[in-house]
Amino acid sequence: MARYTDSVCRMCRREGTKLFLKGEKCFSSKCAQQSRPTPPGQHGQARQRKASEYGLQLREKQKARRAYGLMEGQFKRTFERAAGMKGVTGENLLQLLELRLDNVVYRSGLAASRPQARQLVCHGLMTVNGKKVNIPSYTVKLGDVIGVRQSRRDIALFKAVKEGVGRVIPKWLTTDTENLTATVSALPQREDVDMTLQENMIVEFYSR
Ligand code: SF4
Repeated sequence: MARYTDSVCRMCRREGTKLFLKGEKCFSSKCAQQSRPTPPGQHGQARQRKASEYGLQLREKQKARRAYGLMEGQFKRTFERAAGMKGVTGENLLQLLELRLDNVVYRSGLAASRPQARQLVCHGLMTVNGKKVNIPSYTVKLGDVIGVRQSRRDIALFKAVKEGVGRVIPKWLTTDTENLTATVSALPQREDVDMTLQENMIVEFYSR
């Protein structure tokens, strides 16, 4: 599948917010969104026109899609799945995105960014309930235990996790840094999402 291969920092500058796609760099003064907070491209610094209602909805959808690292079709299918569930579609969408295996690996502190988490999953380093799973979009369930394959626990990345170089873990995940596991102890709620998103605008975008 075709994937975005240009500079990921351009995506943050386009969305006008940090999407935290580069791990440690995102928290340093080297962050491009901090040093050049204008849209990318030759005319990025030109005066911006007022965005239309559609433009605002599009940007909100793109922001969520890019932050979670989904392609257009994948994101639309996730939305359709959310729309078919009971409850509020926007909140269902955010919950489905949070429950993706690559996101859980990132949110539990086992990876520095969502792109890195995706790579760890694709390379077969991660397990769910003890079984190898190499599908980043895999939806974890309540009670699932996400871990690292025994043979890969000694790589430098995981040593840093064991030594406590991590970040704040959301309350719906219970982590065991010694054994490099994270348990889905509750379902993520709206307030657990770690970025500013207006999911109602995404719903409006797809309801046009
Ligand atoms: Fe975005 Fe991180 Fe690049 Fe900053 S360093 S622009 S937050 S990807």
